[in-house]
Amino acid sequence: MMLKGFILCVGDELLTGQTLDANSPWLAQELSAQGVTVVGMAVAPDQKDALIDAIRHAAAGADVLIITGGLGPTEDDLTRPAIADLLAVPLVEDATSLRDIEAFFSSLGRRMSDANRVQAALPRGARAIRNTCGTAPGIRARYRDTTIFALPGVPHEMRVMFAQTVIPEIAGAGGACCYATRTLYTHGIGESDLGERIRDLMARGRNPAVGTTAKQGVIGIRIYARGASGEEAQALLDRDARELRGRLGNLIFGADDERLAAAVAGLLREKRRTIATAESCTGGWAAKQLSDIPGSSAYFLSGIVCYSNEAKVNLLGVPREIIERHGAVSAEVAESMALRCRALAASDYALSITGIAGPDGGTPDKPVGLVYIALADAAGCDVSRHLFGEFRTRDEIRERSCTTALNRLRLKLLA
Ligand code: AMP
Ligand code: MG
Repeated sequence: MMLKGFILCVGDELLTGQTLDANSPWLAQELSAQGVTVVGMAVAPDQKDALIDAIRHAAAGADVLIITGGLGPTEDDLTRPAIADLLAVPLVEDATSLRDIEAFFSSLGRRMSDANRVQAALPRGARAIRNTCGTAPGIRARYRDTTIFALPGVPHEMRVMFAQTVIPEIAGAGGACCYATRTLYTHGIGESDLGERIRDLMARGRNPAVGTTAKQGVIGIRIYARGASGEEAQALLDRDARELRGRLGNLIFGADDERLAAAVAGLLREKRRTIATAESCTGGWAAKQLSDIPGSSAYFLSGIVCYSNEAKVNLLGVPREIIERHGAVSAEVAESMALRCRALAASDYALSITGIAGPDGGTPDKPVGLVYIALADAAGCDVSRHLFGEFRTRDEIRERSCTTALNRLRLKLLA
C-alpha cells in the first residue's frame, strides 16, 4: 500500500515572501524517507475560509496531511478553529494541554497570559500533540480518510514534534516498502554530459530512481532505492552507487554530507601532505574552506590574501615586472603566486587564484569570470585558465574558483 502525503504551510509571512518556507522541504525529505509519497505542497493565508478550503483540498488527495503554522495565541492564528469548522465540531479546552502550557511558563518564571489559554483548545474528538519546546500543542485529527497533523510553524518546535509523534505513527505504514537514499557529488563534468553517461540509470520508473541536481559546478547524483526490506533497498542502492563510481571514477568526490574541502582534507591527511594558499579575487575563501574542517592544522599551513598588486609584490614576492608585463590576472602571475607561496610556507602544495570576479573590471581580452588557478608542488607548477562566464554573479565566480582549485588539488593527490 502506498501512503500519500500533503504538506500545507500556513502564514501570511510566507505568502508575502518575508519568511522563506523552511518547513516544506524538511517535511518532504522526512516523509519521503518514511516511504510516504508527497503528492503536493501548498501555502495558505492567515484567513479562516481560505484555510478551510486549503485543508479540504489538501486532505482530498492525501492519507496524511501535515499542517504547520497558525497555532499561536493571536487573532491571526486560525488553524485550530479552521480544523474545528471543517470537522463541524466545537473547540473544547484540553486540561492536559492547559497544564502543559502553564508548566512551560512557570519553568521560565513567568505566568501564562489569557491569550495563551486558547492554545489549549482542541476540536472535539481530536488529540493534542504535546509540545516540549514551546507553548503551542499540535493537533491530530481525522477528516474523512485523512489523518491530519497540525504542528507549530516555528521550525525547531515543528521538527521535534514531528519526530516524536508523527514518525512513530507513519513509520512502516507505507506498506512493506523500505527506502534508502544517497547523493554522490561530482565536479568537472556538466550536468548534460553527466546525464548522457548515466542515461540508462536515470530512466523514469526505474528502481532505484537516479536524478541529478546542479549547484555552482557541483553536480549531485541522488539515488533513491525502494525495497521490501531495509536490506533490499540498501543492496539496490549499493549496486547503483558502485555502478556510478565505476563509470564516473574520479569525477565523484564525496557522498551525502561530505563537502569537497573535506574530501581534500582526507586525502591530505592520508598522504601526510601540506597545503598553503595565495588568493586574490577569492579573498581567502579557499583558505576558509580548507580551515573549516576540525583538525585542519595537520595539513593547512597558511593562506595569504594578496588582493592588490602591491600585496602580491610585498607579501608574496611576485616580481613586479611580471605583473606589469602580463597583468595581475594572468597565467604568469598565478604561477608566480603559487611558487612564491609554496616557498614561503614550505608546504608540499600551494594553490593560487587570481581572476576577475566582476561585476566591473572586465575587458574584451580579459572578461569578467576569467580566472587563473595554479597548483605548485615539488615537481613544478601547473596553471589552468577558466572562463566561468560574464553572466555569473561575483559570488558565483568566486565560489566556482574555489571549487575548481580544491578539485585540482584533489585530483593531484589522487594521481
Ligand atoms: P505560527 O505557528 O504560525 O505562529 O508561526 C510562528 C513563527 O514560525 C512564524 O512567525 C514564522 O516566523 C515561523 N514559521 C512559520 N511557518 C514557517 C515556515 N513554513 N518556514 C519557516 N518559518 C516558519
Ligand atoms: Mg502564523
